[in-house]
Amino acid sequence: MKELIDKLYRNNNLSKEELIYIIENIDEESKEYLIEKANETRHKYYSNKVFLRGLIEFTNYCKNDCYYCGIRKSNSNIERYRLSLQEIMDCCELGYNLGYRTYVLQGGEDGYFTDDRIVQMIKAIKNKYTDCAITLSVGEKSYESYKKYYEAGADRYLLRHETADEEHYSKLHPKELSFSNRKKCLYDLKEIGFQIGAGFMVGSPYQTSENLANDLLFLKELNPHMVGNGPFIPQKDTQFNKKKQGTLESSIIMTALTRLLLPKALIPVTTALGTIHPLGREMGLKAGANVVMPNLSPRDVREKYLLYDNKICTGDEAAECRFCIQNRIENAGFKIDLSRGDNIEWRRL
Ligand code: SAH
Repeated sequence: MKELIDKLYRNNNLSKEELIYIIENIDEESKEYLIEKANETRHKYYSNKVFLRGLIEFTNYCKNDCYYCGIRKSNSNIERYRLSLQEIMDCCELGYNLGYRTYVLQGGEDGYFTDDRIVQMIKAIKNKYTDCAITLSVGEKSYESYKKYYEAGADRYLLRHETADEEHYSKLHPKELSFSNRKKCLYDLKEIGFQIGAGFMVGSPYQTSENLANDLLFLKELNPHMVGNGPFIPQKDTQFNKKKQGTLESSIIMTALTRLLLPKALIPVTTALGTIHPLGREMGLKAGANVVMPNLSPRDVREKYLLYDNKICTGDEAAECRFCIQNRIENAGFKIDLSRGDNIEWRRL
């Protein structure tokens, strides 16, 4: 096991069989070793810096029906909301004053937000905050739409691939959605020039070790600038409400393996990881992650953006989140970095 981890550390690559072997056989001692090597790797490229991004969850309307997600179309148990442009600009102003230089705009696939409205939003933010980066996370769109967003000034796009196995994908999504289209979107985004983020849920229903190895190898092939992995957590109004949640241990191992496969990636610790364990995010940072995305959404809408149950920080103000996270990062032995925090290999085309 130690030899395999050393090989991964040296080559930043392993075969599918080798990855499956690690996933299925890692013991406590080798896990510590893996984490140590992942941490060394992040230090090599990003020292002890942790980048902060302000997350604005601007709509929970969604036309999709992903089986795991609390804001899926057919969930009639939640109150829907969307922020106005003015409310989004207010979040940005608050965020700017708190020191953020990246805004992550995430939402469901909401038909109200046409390309024109998204472009208008990007331009409004970019005109006012010329020194800030914009990350979009609004799902699957056409090449032309993505291009419009890029030309309007958006810099990055998060679109988790969710699972890189077509069959597994179909167990998590209705038939209108496919891994092949998700993958096409990621390659389109990359070609257009975005910094792209992919990733998967750890411990999603029906996931096998082979699925996880394929997820990691898909990431290796795609070579995204950012990778967001987080544990699956059941949501009470979905058909997966009785399924088991992903484990802390497996999530941490996936973070460390991701760091070793993609040494220069920006890797966030997710709110989901902080939800399944009070120190989950700190453990993720120690296992090679280097980004945290505190919530900037207005407090009165936070309870409505519930992708999964028991989400943390839904009662906090943006400023509380900002300083709570800073304390956590510093207590874990890292330093916050409030710059835009672009991937070290990216330039705008
Ligand atoms: N509509 C956007 C944003 C989706 S929400 C898109 O399609 O990309 C962001 C991420 O939350 C999803 O990609 C998914 O991986 C994660 N998520 C959704 N439901 C979840 C759950 N029950 N547990 C853990 N993560 C979940």
